Amino acid sequence: MNITFLDLSRVNAPHSAALDEVARRVIASGRYIGGPEVAEFERQLSLYQQGGEVVGVSNGLDALRLILEGFKVMGRLKPGDEILVPANTYVASILAISQAGLVPVLVEPSERTLNLDTSLLEKAVTRHTRALMTVHLYGTPCWDEALMETATKHGLLVIEDNAQAMGSQASIKGYNNLPKCGSLGHAAAFSFYPTKNLGALGDAGAVLTHDQELASVIRALANYGSDRRYHNLYVGFNCRMDPLQAAFLAVKLPSLDTENDHRREIAAIYDTHIHHPLVTLHPVEIGISNYHQYVITTPHRDTLREHLAAQGVATDIHYPTPPHLQPCYKTTLGGERLPITEKLARQVLSLPIAPYLSRAEALYVAEAINNF
Ligand SMILES: *Cc1c(COP(=O)(O)O)cnc(C)c1O
Repeated sequence: MNITFLDLSRVNAPHSAALDEVARRVIASGRYIGGPEVAEFERQLSLYQQGGEVVGVSNGLDALRLILEGFKVMGRLKPGDEILVPANTYVASILAISQAGLVPVLVEPSERTLNLDTSLLEKAVTRHTRALMTVHLYGTPCWDEALMETATKHGLLVIEDNAQAMGSQASIKGYNNLPKCGSLGHAAAFSFYPTKNLGALGDAGAVLTHDQELASVIRALANYGSDRRYHNLYVGFNCRMDPLQAAFLAVKLPSLDTENDHRREIAAIYDTHIHHPLVTLHPVEIGISNYHQYVITTPHRDTLREHLAAQGVATDIHYPTPPHLQPCYKTTLGGERLPITEKLARQVLSLPIAPYLSRAEALYVAEAINNF
């Protein structure tokens, strides 16, 4: 067998006729910036999330940045404020914080959940802490009692980096229904980067918030800071959502839950069939994951990866170098002692998982690991 890590043409193949059709519609419409396609996708995303104001933007990093800039405009954040953020996140979470002139305070993950270790949050709070950016890494909800308690106790703004978690659901004690990730905090950033569970055919992102003022500030900030034509309220950016991508996303959104269900079936196969003394699985403990990635850990990661490649199984690493060890953060964050983050960077391995992957292929991957 030959199993690629992720083949985007196969992800999009079931949608190809509908994608062709809407591309033609957008081309014929003459509306290439903003307009009805973007408004319609914003409406559909809000419905999917069961409410909230959605602002379509250029990508996930810009969505995060606009949330932080929006809170600055509203006087709820100011340069130098500290934001708690998991140390093992994708670098974009940290870039958004530093680009907004805020200070990322890196908190170690749990070796079990691979998500932020929420029991460390309380100790990380200082008199400068104003916000907490939770990242639902690999699609695993990062939301629990300890997180909510710290946020409430210190009046922190809670921002969700929901780039990897569309369709994941958090579990909250005392509530029967499981609220969707991306609708838990004060504001959430979505990414529709092509490899994400809801992927565009280019760059796209969105902000969701229940705060009407924040939504309108962000809408203006993303459009040169302009609240109406030729009137610039803020020193804004150009971070608008491309209507062609909005139209593509509106085609794909109705299939997201089915595609996520399929990913969960593949994950369940991995959960039950992978048995190896040197390989650790990290089953999701609270809530429901969309399995953006299925991640295992092993101290023999690089040799396991080679073994799997020899068996025709492609894998990936999310992420080989943590943000604080990237050259751009050498002088600011490079001195941090983050042993768990660094250990995970050496041990994590992402297995193939996709809406098109067959059960037989998943069983083959599990068997190839068991033969290591
Ligand atoms: C993909 C991703 C982003 C950035 O999204 P883009 O659309 O690529 O800018 C931010 N945070 C996390 C956790 C991501 O996985």
